[in-house]
Amino acid sequence: MLGPPGAGKGTQAERFARERGVPRISTGDILREAGHSGTELGLAAKAVMEAGRLVSDAIMIGIVKERLERPDAVPGFVLDGFPRTVAQAEALDGMVDDRAPLVVVDIEVPDHTLVRRLHGRRICRVCGWNAAPGATVCARCGGSLVQRSDDGERVVLERLHVYLKDTQPIVEYYRRRRTFRSVDGDQAPDAVAADIASAVAAVLGGRA
Ligand code: AMP
Repeated sequence: MLGPPGAGKGTQAERFARERGVPRISTGDILREAGHSGTELGLAAKAVMEAGRLVSDAIMIGIVKERLERPDAVPGFVLDGFPRTVAQAEALDGMVDDRAPLVVVDIEVPDHTLVRRLHGRRICRVCGWNAAPGATVCARCGGSLVQRSDDGERVVLERLHVYLKDTQPIVEYYRRRRTFRSVDGDQAPDAVAADIASAVAAVLGGRA
């Protein structure tokens, strides 16, 4: 699932994965967990994330390759936050070339909506859940809500800049494929989810 920061990738990936009974693999979540655990890799990643930059391709490709080999990912998976560079997209093609087709869904949202959403976004301090707009506590565990450490205004602008420079080119990398679809992310979450489901069904046909 592709899209700029704030496009709703996390929310949609979580929902789609739950409905299909496959894991959602969020590289941002994996890195945040590593940061909390205080390992050397985690602490290095935390500093990069808090600056709004990208963790190196070699590290990310290693993390995703290992994750896709676990048994729960064999029937299928939803990737959220990976690939983010053309080098990662090329590596992913190599990881899945003997599996069912890689369906690529790009969630498109105008810039002004992204900045507003990211600035207002709150996550659960305890479990990391993305809170619904206006919520005061976490709907999943009741924990208190905080702003993500990389959602402050300066870092949001840097993340959007990095997205345009490093990640937007992968949309062009995939665009001509039969398995590529883009959906309008500037709608209510239910409408976006319905468009994603139709897009995936159109690509997979009888296999969806
Ligand atoms: P996310 O939760 O997907 O918005 O990711 C948060 C941050 O984690 C990003 O701004 C990057 O610093 C880092 N990150 C997540 N996924 C990747 C990736 N595939 N490649 C490089 N950095 C990543």
